[in-house]
Amino acid sequence: MERNKKDFQSELAKYLSEKDFVYGPEPEIYGPLAGFYSYGLNGKAMKNKIENQIRKIFKSNNFFEVELPLISPQIVWEASGHLKGFNDPIINCSKCKAVFRADKLLNETLEIDADHLKNEEIIDLIKKHEIHCPSCNGRFNLEIKRQCLMMKTTIGIDTPVYLRPETATTTYLPFKHYINFFRGKLPFTVFQIGKAFRNEISPRQNLIRMREFTQAESQMFLTKEMKENFSLYEKIKKVVLPLWTEKMQKENKNFEKISLEKALSEKILKNKAYAWNLWLSYEIIKAIGIKEDKIRFRQHFSDERAFYSDDTWDLEVELNSFGWIEMVGISDRTNYDLSQHAKFSKQDLSIKDEKGKDVILDVIEIAFGVDRPFYALLDLAFFRREADEQRTVLSLPSKIAPIEVGVLPLVKKDGMPEKAQEVLEKLKEFVYLYDDSGSIGKRYSRLDAIGTPFCITIDGDSLKNDDVTIRERDSGKQKRVKIKDLKNLLKELLNEEKRFEEI
Ligand code: AMP
Repeated sequence: MERNKKDFQSELAKYLSEKDFVYGPEPEIYGPLAGFYSYGLNGKAMKNKIENQIRKIFKSNNFFEVELPLISPQIVWEASGHLKGFNDPIINCSKCKAVFRADKLLNETLEIDADHLKNEEIIDLIKKHEIHCPSCNGRFNLEIKRQCLMMKTTIGIDTPVYLRPETATTTYLPFKHYINFFRGKLPFTVFQIGKAFRNEISPRQNLIRMREFTQAESQMFLTKEMKENFSLYEKIKKVVLPLWTEKMQKENKNFEKISLEKALSEKILKNKAYAWNLWLSYEIIKAIGIKEDKIRFRQHFSDERAFYSDDTWDLEVELNSFGWIEMVGISDRTNYDLSQHAKFSKQDLSIKDEKGKDVILDVIEIAFGVDRPFYALLDLAFFRREADEQRTVLSLPSKIAPIEVGVLPLVKKDGMPEKAQEVLEKLKEFVYLYDDSGSIGKRYSRLDAIGTPFCITIDGDSLKNDDVTIRERDSGKQKRVKIKDLKNLLKELLNEEKRFEEI
């Protein structure tokens, strides 16, 4: 049955709030500010796990983590180009004065991609299709203004400063320290996980378009020659990725699974280092638990790319609530950033290349959002659960589930709670929930509904035999295991190194 997307969106939003994943928009008790959300008691645990997966994979690929301030002076954003170029077209209703993002308005009413249209083109389309205000049906003032997407604040009495709209720019600023740390050995590979702020005009779609959100962005600094001769590429060149090129999009064709090798020889991708970064983003999103059949890479149109980019592909995931949505942007930022910061700071940000020539390095960036993959996992799990409405089971990947294990004495007497405490002592390293209230069936249901992959039940036999039952969320099947084996077994199950059937 074709599901109604809008119903699904609101049902999911309600569920996420009720089950302590996401509250908001916040502050709920005073009246909300659009685009600001809180991660609740389950949500925060799950978000940490996503960040840790991202962190783990970046680290295992020799990326080093940094943390930079959220606020920077105006000159940084003049240099980066954000002050001038990072804005969205807005249009006002002449009657109710409501403000709309003009490109999104066209996108929704005409179902066209209007990201890259010029002001005049937007106006022409609004006139031609007689588009009226969605709130009051009034006419629009036929003037497009550009709203800066950066949030401004002051420090001291009145010095203007800006909250960062991406982590990337701040990661570039200590570049001289990286030269020292990496002892000149290229590529320099750095990443940062942290908050970014954007003055989105119409924040909506829950966590998809927020005003304050979390990014996890890696930056690879290298020479232009290295991009072509990137040795790590050799190991992954046979990997096949779902690529949706600009050409395929223009010809209304579907994406195709293409090997990186073929993509390079056919000039779909520009260089080996870029191909490797695309592959790495794919590895990370899969490690978080998104299945391959929900992923595609969409190439940006040449007039759609950010002002600093030579080539950009978005890693998109197909959601039940909103269709294909960008989770990650992979950009070849050329030597734009370091050149600009060298110019504005009047510092020498060049290094000597292999031939002893002074060069400004290029940057290839993987710009991960954390909130969107978080939402995607819940969207996909919640959709699957709906297929069987008898049981509310949230089939989250085990390594991402907020509560890893439920510990449940069958009854609150006969020594079972004491035995359960003994079990708990052995499970301290896991995120557990101890629950001894209500029938055992109800307790399983509560834990299933927040995606807890395993439950341990302590019953009468546990006291005699020093064993417990372990129950798997999705199948509801149970097995008996010795308490002494529990810790290692849980570790293997949660890391998806062992399957439940193999016990
Ligand atoms: P961008 O720099 O726009 O390519 O953003 C990089 C990533 O940050 C995106 O792929 C999203 O996952 C995330 N992101 C960007 N803007 C927002 C937003 N307003 N709300 C939530 N996540 C965002």
